[in-house]
Amino acid sequence: MNKYFINTYGCQMNYSDTERLSAILEQLGYAPAQTENEADFVLFNTCSIRQKAEDRVYGQMRKLVRMKRERPNLLVGITGCMVRESSTINSEEQDKLLKQEPVDLVFKIDDLPKLGGLIKEVQPDFKTPISEGDLESYFHIAPKRESKVQVWVPIQTGCDKFCTYCIVPFARGRETSRPMQKIVDECAAAVESGAAEITLLGQTVDSYGISVQDKLGGRVKIDGEIPNVVFNQGIFKGENMMASSDGARQKETAERPFVTLLKEIDKLKAKGLKRLRYSSPHPQDFCEELIILHKELDTLQPWIHLPVQSGNNKVLKDMRRTYTREHYLNLIKLIKKHVPDCAISTDIIAGFPGETEEEFMESIDLMKEMECDMAFMAQYSPRRGTYSAKHLKDDVPKEEKARRFHMLNDTLTEISRQKYAQFMGQTVEVLVERQDGQRCSGRTPHYKEVFFNSGRDLVGKLVSVKVTKTDNFFLKGELV
Ligand code: SF4
Repeated sequence: MNKYFINTYGCQMNYSDTERLSAILEQLGYAPAQTENEADFVLFNTCSIRQKAEDRVYGQMRKLVRMKRERPNLLVGITGCMVRESSTINSEEQDKLLKQEPVDLVFKIDDLPKLGGLIKEVQPDFKTPISEGDLESYFHIAPKRESKVQVWVPIQTGCDKFCTYCIVPFARGRETSRPMQKIVDECAAAVESGAAEITLLGQTVDSYGISVQDKLGGRVKIDGEIPNVVFNQGIFKGENMMASSDGARQKETAERPFVTLLKEIDKLKAKGLKRLRYSSPHPQDFCEELIILHKELDTLQPWIHLPVQSGNNKVLKDMRRTYTREHYLNLIKLIKKHVPDCAISTDIIAGFPGETEEEFMESIDLMKEMECDMAFMAQYSPRRGTYSAKHLKDDVPKEEKARRFHMLNDTLTEISRQKYAQFMGQTVEVLVERQDGQRCSGRTPHYKEVFFNSGRDLVGKLVSVKVTKTDNFFLKGELV
């Protein structure tokens, strides 16, 4: 039997895609390989959020060139964010990637249902047991889950926000939501198979069900007004792409589809669901109604990851982030009002084109004001194919970007140290994710990582741990 091996890079969305990729490969008759050396088909599920991510993929692929010379039948495929054009077939971008040794196959992740046919084009003898018609869409593929206890469930694909530095809308296409019942069914099946924690995934989960595609396709029934989706008017039209300065929408008269979805999934607690999370919302679509759910729904955890990217309004505008610093901080205030102990994390970019020292310092101030528990920080690097790479001068020197990055990191470390210290002596609930001998680790409801020892096999179990030591970014404790 032929074997496959997948190299996955990037965010949870990509790891979730890999679960579907594995499932379809096994339906096509492949078995999983432990290493690339024993694989007949090596796949790269790629990320291109930063140059470093692409460089890692190219570095890894170079290693395969020699392997392919020795084993000409070795098939090498590439999918994910490095595949940027709207079609899998006949695009310039795909042609470029296909010329890259040792690549044989290039396809958009949405085109996964066509994989059997694509392999056949390269290996005419390949007998595909499933035709394209068997799998109407990517979401119809039942994933092969890495973990049965903690599962990821994608609720939408694509993105309509078109932030100037981001390749995702070009790699994944326009935002489209899955029908609600399909998501609830997938969650119910996961809980039935033992899932204790579900994380709903999407590029902007809080706009679930309200994109233009959703309205046109009628995928999710929404009563009330059409939201103010000004960013769907076209690409790169400048000012008219921006929402109003505070990100306000037209008055909505019905419950938001994402709120309804969370309520529906919360009902699965009766069947054994313990924890519900989502990643990531966009500040423009985030709202008080959603925040309040964190105190109303038993399974919804006290952790919100709300990417801000910059604390300065001019930089936010250049990034086309469609909200202001004031709007963002108001959301933080509402979170603290309704869920005072909620952990909050964010994403911040240092050294965006044109960012002055003064403007950067507003990001530092914002981090302090919001008291963020965690931040994922990056130094800006232009990504080919994005608006900023084409139109904005990458004018912050490399050394200055690094200095700003370290300042962000130092600020975060200080805030985080204080946040973690608050857990000293407390007993926290931990969902055990890993165990190596006696050393166990898992996360609390606030998404804090905890290490402790146990002689019992605890992976997948919810346990109580008394915190005996706190660090800048983790907790240590003893099983109670
Ligand atoms: S919201 Fe912006 S950064 Fe996030 S995926 Fe969409 S375009 Fe990219």
